[in-house]
Amino acid sequence: MTAPATEAVQARGIEKSYGEWPVLWNLDLSVPWGQTLVLFGANGAGKTTLLRILATHVRPDEGSIAVAGHNLRTRPDEVRRRIGVVGHRSLLYDDMTCRENLVYYARLFGLKDHKPRVDEVLEKVGLSNRADHRVRTLSNGMQKRAAIARAILHQPDVLLLDEPEGGLDLESVSILGTLLAEWTDAGRSVIMTTHDLDLGLSWGHQAGVLRGGKVHLQDNNDSSGITGSNIRQAVAEALKGC
Ligand code: ATP
Repeated sequence: MTAPATEAVQARGIEKSYGEWPVLWNLDLSVPWGQTLVLFGANGAGKTTLLRILATHVRPDEGSIAVAGHNLRTRPDEVRRRIGVVGHRSLLYDDMTCRENLVYYARLFGLKDHKPRVDEVLEKVGLSNRADHRVRTLSNGMQKRAAIARAILHQPDVLLLDEPEGGLDLESVSILGTLLAEWTDAGRSVIMTTHDLDLGLSWGHQAGVLRGGKVHLQDNNDSSGITGSNIRQAVAEALKGC
């Protein structure tokens, strides 16, 4: 892991509009090391836009972002090395096999002796027996698993996951939950979006609702942690008004 900056991700004053349409407005965000922030929000609230900004795929109009202490605007390559992204598109080459894709990305990330790591991530996502199948011949859920393998390949400090459970069967969801728990136990961080309240609250250390262009953290003021019924109610209430 990278020598820790104070926070894994820190964003200040993020603004993003599409034309005249403001999506994110003076948004602040702070994710500590070793934690998962789960973002909820109505369709169109801006969750994907925020993740795409953090992933360096979309430029914010205003604001500053640091990932593992690296300024996203001035050091985008440093940031890209430290993030793993699972979005709505897999970022895999359809005509290449899973293994060929992972080897390609391992080289891109400059991983030395990448063969064992490629085997390891294929095993982690349960795709060892499909390693040499072309991506386009895999089911949606398998393609999602391959995308997760690509995202974790270089052991990035921060995982950015947009509805990662989408299309996964129950067993794969459970594998992903275990993987994310190990990820944060190792001191790394995760920002993920989901529409599944129960799943999000069971995986997250912090819950936020994206609403009116900002992230509203749902604090829990008793000792029950994020799974306490009061935080579930707070998130559900915040979502109702969206
Ligand atoms: P969902 O829950 O449906 O996935 P979301 O919270 O992820 O929604 P975004 O995809 O970030 O929402 O979209 C936020 C707003 O920005 C929407 O109004 C959307 O139409 C708009 N938007 C997103 N991308 C673009 C784009 N490339 N050009 C124009 N408008 C866009």
